[in-house]
Amino acid sequence: MGKVEKSVDNIHKCLCRKCPTYRTAYEQKSKPEDMTRMIEGDTSDVERMEGVFCASGKSRFIEEKKGCICANCPVYKENGLTGGYYCIMGAEGEQ
Ligand code: SF4
Ligand code: SF4
Repeated sequence: MGKVEKSVDNIHKCLCRKCPTYRTAYEQKSKPEDMTRMIEGDTSDVERMEGVFCASGKSRFIEEKKGCICANCPVYKENGLTGGYYCIMGAEGEQ
């Protein structure tokens, strides 16, 4: 299995922005700019955007597990992923 790419295409497919774990951290951390950009689909700074954690690894803001919806994501299926909670545990292959 190849490494997942943090591409603009995958950013748009990523379900993290709708996930309870993501949403909880977003509110608790006072809506950080890099999470806001992910929610709004603003791809002006892909490297810093908080999403596609299966590619980029742990979040800088998310610490508490509140449910993970990765298994429903097209990126998950397309890349044959098997893990979850990438935002806390690290990218696929690093867990
Ligand atoms: S598998 Fe999870 S982390 Fe990866 S793009 Fe989909 S929702 Fe985001
Ligand atoms: S990696 Fe899973 S738990 Fe983390 S924000 Fe994405 S869907 Fe939610």
